[in-house]
Amino acid sequence: MAVLSGIIGLCVGSFLNVVIHRVPLRQSVVRPRSHCPQCGTQIDERDNIPLVSWIALRGRCRSCHARIPVRYPLVEAATAVLFVAAAVRLGANWDLPAFCVFFASLLAISVIDLERYIIPSRIIYPTLVVVGPLLVLAAALDSRWRALADAGIGGAAAFAALFVVHVISPRGMGFGDVRLAGVIGLMLGWLGLRYVPLGLFLAFVLASVVGIGLMVARLRSRKDAVPFGPFMAMGAVVAVLWGHPLLRLYLGSRA
Ligand SMILES: [Zn+2]
Repeated sequence: MAVLSGIIGLCVGSFLNVVIHRVPLRQSVVRPRSHCPQCGTQIDERDNIPLVSWIALRGRCRSCHARIPVRYPLVEAATAVLFVAAAVRLGANWDLPAFCVFFASLLAISVIDLERYIIPSRIIYPTLVVVGPLLVLAAALDSRWRALADAGIGGAAAFAALFVVHVISPRGMGFGDVRLAGVIGLMLGWLGLRYVPLGLFLAFVLASVVGIGLMVARLRSRKDAVPFGPFMAMGAVVAVLWGHPLLRLYLGSRA
Protein backbone atom coordinates (compact mmCIF):
# COMPACT_ATOMS: atom_id res chain seq x y z
CA MET A 1 0.00 0.00 0.00
CA ALA A 2 2.89 2.37 0.82
CA VAL A 3 4.67 1.68 -2.50
CA LEU A 4 1.44 2.10 -4.45
CA SER A 5 0.72 5.35 -2.60
CA GLY A 6 4.22 6.60 -3.46
CA ILE A 7 3.74 5.96 -7.18
CA ILE A 8 0.30 7.59 -7.16
CA GLY A 9 1.89 10.45 -5.19
CA LEU A 10 4.46 11.09 -7.94
CA CYS A 11 1.70 11.34 -10.57
CA VAL A 12 -0.49 13.54 -8.36
CA GLY A 13 2.58 15.71 -7.67
CA SER A 14 3.00 16.19 -11.41
CA PHE A 15 -0.62 17.39 -11.59
CA LEU A 16 -0.03 19.69 -8.57
CA ASN A 17 2.71 21.45 -10.55
CA VAL A 18 0.08 22.29 -13.16
CA VAL A 19 -2.33 23.45 -10.42
CA ILE A 20 0.37 25.61 -8.78
CA HIS A 21 1.26 27.22 -12.12
CA ARG A 22 -2.21 27.70 -13.59
CA VAL A 23 -4.72 28.26 -10.75
CA PRO A 24 -3.31 31.69 -9.72
CA LEU A 25 -3.43 32.68 -13.43
CA ARG A 26 -7.09 31.57 -13.57
CA GLN A 27 -6.31 29.05 -16.32
CA SER A 28 -7.85 25.61 -16.76
CA VAL A 29 -5.91 22.78 -15.11
CA VAL A 30 -7.17 20.30 -17.72
CA ARG A 31 -6.59 22.03 -21.04
CA PRO A 32 -4.39 22.68 -22.95
CA ARG A 33 -1.70 20.05 -22.46
CA SER A 34 1.48 21.14 -20.68
CA HIS A 35 3.88 23.24 -22.70
CA CYS A 36 7.18 24.98 -22.03
CA PRO A 37 6.47 28.53 -20.75
CA GLN A 38 9.59 29.76 -22.61
CA CYS A 39 9.25 28.36 -26.15
CA GLY A 40 5.65 27.10 -26.04
CA THR A 41 6.57 23.61 -27.25
CA GLN A 42 4.08 20.99 -26.08
CA ILE A 43 5.72 18.62 -23.61
CA ASP A 44 6.25 15.10 -24.94
CA GLU A 45 4.88 12.06 -23.07
CA ARG A 46 8.44 10.81 -22.49
CA ASP A 47 9.40 14.20 -20.93
CA ASN A 48 6.36 14.21 -18.67
CA ILE A 49 7.35 11.34 -16.36
CA PRO A 50 7.42 12.62 -12.76
CA LEU A 51 10.91 13.11 -11.30
CA VAL A 52 12.59 10.88 -13.95
CA SER A 53 12.18 13.32 -16.85
CA TRP A 54 13.54 16.30 -14.92
CA ILE A 55 16.66 14.31 -13.99
CA ALA A 56 17.05 12.88 -17.52
CA LEU A 57 16.76 16.37 -19.06
CA ARG A 58 19.04 17.81 -16.34
CA GLY A 59 16.37 20.39 -15.52
CA ARG A 60 16.13 21.92 -19.00
CA CYS A 61 13.51 22.07 -21.78
CA ARG A 62 14.30 19.58 -24.57
CA SER A 63 13.74 22.11 -27.38
CA CYS A 64 14.85 25.51 -26.04
CA HIS A 65 17.01 24.41 -23.07
CA ALA A 66 15.30 26.89 -20.73
CA ARG A 67 15.65 25.94 -17.07
CA ILE A 68 12.77 23.98 -15.54
CA PRO A 69 12.55 25.19 -11.91
CA VAL A 70 13.70 22.67 -9.29
CA ARG A 71 10.30 23.23 -7.69
CA TYR A 72 8.83 20.75 -10.20
CA PRO A 73 10.73 17.61 -9.09
CA LEU A 74 10.58 18.80 -5.44
CA VAL A 75 6.76 19.03 -5.50
CA GLU A 76 6.57 15.56 -7.10
CA ALA A 77 8.93 14.04 -4.52
CA ALA A 78 7.18 15.80 -1.61
CA THR A 79 3.76 14.54 -2.74
CA ALA A 80 5.10 10.98 -2.95
CA VAL A 81 6.61 11.26 0.57
CA LEU A 82 3.33 12.66 1.98
CA PHE A 83 1.28 9.87 0.36
CA VAL A 84 3.63 7.17 1.70
CA ALA A 85 3.50 8.75 5.18
CA ALA A 86 -0.31 8.85 5.04
CA ALA A 87 -0.41 5.17 4.01
CA VAL A 88 1.95 4.17 6.85
CA ARG A 89 -0.03 6.21 9.39
CA LEU A 90 -3.56 5.22 8.34
CA GLY A 91 -2.96 1.76 6.86
CA ALA A 92 -5.19 0.21 4.22
CA ASN A 93 -8.33 1.96 5.44
CA TRP A 94 -11.11 3.69 3.57
CA ASP A 95 -10.09 7.11 4.90
CA LEU A 96 -6.66 6.94 3.21
CA PRO A 97 -7.81 8.48 -0.15
CA ALA A 98 -9.36 11.47 1.65
CA PHE A 99 -6.12 12.14 3.55
CA CYS A 100 -4.03 11.82 0.37
CA VAL A 101 -6.24 14.42 -1.33
CA PHE A 102 -5.98 16.58 1.81
CA PHE A 103 -2.16 16.40 1.86
CA ALA A 104 -1.96 17.12 -1.87
CA SER A 105 -4.06 20.25 -1.60
CA LEU A 106 -2.11 21.41 1.49
CA LEU A 107 1.09 21.17 -0.55
CA ALA A 108 -0.32 23.09 -3.53
CA ILE A 109 -1.79 25.76 -1.21
CA SER A 110 1.53 26.14 0.66
CA VAL A 111 3.57 26.72 -2.51
CA ILE A 112 1.03 29.21 -3.93
CA ASP A 113 0.75 31.05 -0.60
CA LEU A 114 4.57 31.29 -0.30
CA GLU A 115 4.91 32.62 -3.84
CA ARG A 116 1.84 34.84 -4.10
CA TYR A 117 0.36 35.39 -0.61
CA ILE A 118 -3.02 33.97 -1.59
CA ILE A 119 -4.95 30.81 -0.71
CA PRO A 120 -7.13 30.24 -3.78
CA SER A 121 -10.73 29.27 -3.09
CA ARG A 122 -10.42 27.47 -6.45
CA ILE A 123 -8.39 24.87 -4.51
CA ILE A 124 -10.28 24.98 -1.18
CA TYR A 125 -13.75 24.30 -2.64
CA PRO A 126 -12.74 21.44 -4.98
CA THR A 127 -10.89 19.88 -2.03
CA LEU A 128 -14.07 20.00 0.08
CA VAL A 129 -16.12 18.60 -2.81
CA VAL A 130 -13.73 15.61 -3.01
CA VAL A 131 -12.89 14.89 0.65
CA GLY A 132 -16.46 15.41 1.92
CA PRO A 133 -17.97 12.47 -0.01
CA LEU A 134 -14.79 10.38 0.57
CA LEU A 135 -15.21 10.76 4.34
CA VAL A 136 -18.94 9.93 4.11
CA LEU A 137 -18.02 6.82 2.12
CA ALA A 138 -15.32 5.87 4.65
CA ALA A 139 -17.81 6.38 7.49
CA ALA A 140 -20.34 4.14 5.75
CA LEU A 141 -17.86 1.36 4.87
CA ASP A 142 -16.10 1.28 8.25
CA SER A 143 -19.15 2.32 10.36
CA ARG A 144 -17.32 5.38 11.64
CA TRP A 145 -20.27 7.75 11.98
CA ARG A 146 -18.88 9.19 15.21
CA ALA A 147 -15.68 10.19 13.37
CA LEU A 148 -17.78 11.80 10.64
CA ALA A 149 -19.73 13.82 13.22
CA ASP A 150 -16.45 14.91 14.86
CA ALA A 151 -15.15 15.93 11.43
CA GLY A 152 -18.16 18.23 10.98
CA ILE A 153 -17.74 19.69 14.49
CA GLY A 154 -13.96 20.09 14.01
CA GLY A 155 -14.41 21.88 10.68
CA ALA A 156 -16.98 24.31 12.10
CA ALA A 157 -14.94 24.94 15.27
CA ALA A 158 -11.64 25.62 13.47
CA PHE A 159 -13.41 27.88 10.95
CA ALA A 160 -15.10 29.81 13.78
CA ALA A 161 -11.89 30.12 15.82
CA LEU A 162 -9.84 31.62 12.98
CA PHE A 163 -12.81 33.72 11.85
CA VAL A 164 -12.64 35.46 15.25
CA VAL A 165 -8.90 36.12 14.70
CA HIS A 166 -9.73 37.40 11.19
CA VAL A 167 -12.35 39.83 12.55
CA ILE A 168 -9.91 41.12 15.19
CA SER A 169 -6.96 41.37 12.77
CA PRO A 170 -8.06 41.16 9.11
CA ARG A 171 -4.56 42.08 7.90
CA GLY A 172 -2.84 39.43 10.00
CA MET A 173 -5.29 36.63 9.14
CA GLY A 174 -6.83 36.63 5.66
CA PHE A 175 -10.17 34.99 4.89
CA GLY A 176 -8.30 32.39 2.82
CA ASP A 177 -6.66 31.25 6.06
CA VAL A 178 -10.11 30.98 7.67
CA ARG A 179 -11.42 28.78 4.84
CA LEU A 180 -8.29 26.62 5.02
CA ALA A 181 -8.80 26.22 8.78
CA GLY A 182 -12.27 24.83 8.06
CA VAL A 183 -10.82 22.10 5.82
CA ILE A 184 -8.06 21.32 8.33
CA GLY A 185 -10.58 21.16 11.20
CA LEU A 186 -12.72 18.75 9.18
CA MET A 187 -9.85 16.33 8.49
CA LEU A 188 -8.28 16.52 11.98
CA GLY A 189 -11.74 16.21 13.57
CA TRP A 190 -12.16 12.89 11.75
CA LEU A 191 -9.10 11.58 13.66
CA GLY A 192 -10.50 12.92 16.95
CA LEU A 193 -11.58 16.34 18.24
CA ARG A 194 -8.32 16.74 20.20
CA TYR A 195 -6.37 16.80 16.95
CA VAL A 196 -8.06 20.07 15.89
CA PRO A 197 -6.63 22.35 18.63
CA LEU A 198 -3.32 20.43 18.37
CA GLY A 199 -3.02 21.18 14.63
CA LEU A 200 -3.85 24.87 15.06
CA PHE A 201 -1.53 25.17 18.09
CA LEU A 202 1.33 23.62 16.08
CA ALA A 203 0.65 26.09 13.25
CA PHE A 204 0.99 29.07 15.61
CA VAL A 205 4.12 27.61 17.26
CA LEU A 206 5.80 26.91 13.88
CA ALA A 207 4.86 30.37 12.55
CA SER A 208 6.25 32.05 15.69
CA VAL A 209 9.51 30.07 15.66
CA VAL A 210 10.13 30.71 11.94
CA GLY A 211 8.97 34.35 12.21
CA ILE A 212 11.35 35.06 15.11
CA GLY A 213 14.11 33.16 13.27
CA LEU A 214 13.67 35.32 10.15
CA MET A 215 13.72 38.50 12.26
CA VAL A 216 16.86 37.42 14.14
CA ALA A 217 18.54 36.56 10.82
CA ARG A 218 17.34 40.02 9.61
CA LEU A 219 15.69 38.41 6.58
CA ARG A 220 12.33 39.91 7.50
CA SER A 221 11.29 42.83 9.65
CA ARG A 222 8.32 42.83 12.00
CA LYS A 223 6.28 44.66 9.35
CA ASP A 224 6.81 42.14 6.53
CA ALA A 225 3.98 39.73 5.89
CA VAL A 226 4.76 36.05 6.34
CA PRO A 227 2.08 33.81 4.82
CA PHE A 228 0.31 31.72 7.45
CA GLY A 229 -1.06 29.02 5.11
CA PRO A 230 2.15 26.94 4.94
CA PHE A 231 2.33 26.85 8.75
CA MET A 232 -1.28 25.71 9.02
CA ALA A 233 -0.48 23.05 6.43
CA MET A 234 2.62 21.90 8.34
CA GLY A 235 0.75 21.90 11.65
CA ALA A 236 -1.99 19.77 10.09
CA VAL A 237 0.47 17.28 8.57
CA VAL A 238 2.36 16.94 11.88
CA ALA A 239 -0.95 16.50 13.74
CA VAL A 240 -2.07 13.75 11.34
CA LEU A 241 1.26 11.88 11.33
CA TRP A 242 2.46 12.35 14.93
CA GLY A 243 -0.61 13.70 16.73
CA HIS A 244 -1.17 10.53 18.71
CA PRO A 245 2.28 10.44 20.41
CA LEU A 246 2.22 14.24 20.85
CA LEU A 247 -1.16 14.16 22.59
CA ARG A 248 -0.01 11.30 24.82
CA LEU A 249 3.10 13.26 25.71
CA TYR A 250 1.00 16.30 26.63
CA LEU A 251 -1.97 14.63 28.26
CA GLY A 252 -0.06 11.70 29.78
CA SER A 253 -2.15 8.65 30.59
CA ARG A 254 -5.39 10.56 30.02
CA ALA A 255 -4.92 10.32 26.24
ZN1 LIG B 1 11.22 25.30 -24.13
